[in-house]
Amino acid sequence: MNSQRNLKPDIKASSLEEFLNYFSDQGLKSFHAKQLFKWIYQKGAEYFEDMTDLSADLRKKLKNDFAFSHFSPEKVLTSKDGTKKFLFAVGENEYIESVIIPSSKRTTLCISSQVGCKFACRFCASGLNGFSRNLTTAEILNQILYIKNHEKGAMITHVVFMGVGEPMDNYDNVFKSIRIINSSSGLNIAARRITVSTCGLIPQIRAMAKEGLQIELAVSLHAANNTTRSQLMPVNRKDPLDKLLATCKSYSKATKRQITFEYVLIKGVNDSQEDARQLARQVKGMLCKINLITCNQVKALACCSADRQQAVKFQNILLQKGILVTIRAPRGEDIAAACGQLRYSLSKKKR
Ligand code: SAH
Repeated sequence: MNSQRNLKPDIKASSLEEFLNYFSDQGLKSFHAKQLFKWIYQKGAEYFEDMTDLSADLRKKLKNDFAFSHFSPEKVLTSKDGTKKFLFAVGENEYIESVIIPSSKRTTLCISSQVGCKFACRFCASGLNGFSRNLTTAEILNQILYIKNHEKGAMITHVVFMGVGEPMDNYDNVFKSIRIINSSSGLNIAARRITVSTCGLIPQIRAMAKEGLQIELAVSLHAANNTTRSQLMPVNRKDPLDKLLATCKSYSKATKRQITFEYVLIKGVNDSQEDARQLARQVKGMLCKINLITCNQVKALACCSADRQQAVKFQNILLQKGILVTIRAPRGEDIAAACGQLRYSLSKKKR
């Protein structure tokens, strides 16, 4: 369902503060704001009629003033490792993906922030059909709410903005949704369990440092020098590596928070021992950890993952240099779980 087409604002486009103002403007009791928030984000209401402790008059008024959209998936794929991918239609031939990744200690939900992506990283399927539009705040939240309300037993503990799109390029809607995800009257997920992943947009990283939120920042580095990074990630020509790393240093200094650098290992491109040494030099002394990722094969893109042995060698070099580093276990490979792969395969069929 596309909430943008609705003329009335979606009920999930408003923060708690905006509801407080709305109720006070209408001469209504302010406690209704929290009541309403709890119905939407904690008690699973999908219709105003569900909100049984609000008066019939108030429900009617809300229905008159707001739309109440919700998602239902077009397709669901379940991996043999328990990872589950949901494809949601958000408009005509517009799809986004959300992925639940359960593990022994946590259940992480990976959500999308845009329909498509402008940044065209060489190994990523999200940008293959270009960029269509930003998701609204309601559409970002609808991904979480669908899974929370309909996937019985899926207790979401962590939310990561690592699905389709560049969250920092949809800054206002993403940060508004984060405040609702984090709010104790909203989804009530601790800030430290919410991660924003970026291809490295410098002005937005600077802005995020001033948000006063304890959320996690992950930066997709994927190369330790400008030549390779510009080849893999065209954004590097605008926001180059040295400036990005300097921004990350200032971010950690200002927020006292550790940054995660993501590094997808691509065979013969960025996985040599020299690359590992160069990476170690680049991040030396920074408050950071490195997450090495074996590249998920995207058929339309000529990228081949480094093998496990090469990944371990790469990791060992970093460890010897005193850098905190892990190899992320690949999940959901049999269901094309990496960014944008499912929506791309579907849109190809429809073209
Ligand atoms: N645009 C943001 C968030 C979405 S991508 C960003 O660039 O960080 C989330 C992570 O998945 C990024 O680190 C991205 O580089 C990585 N990724 C994309 N395609 C991949 C693939 N085929 N295999 C492994 N990781 C991939």
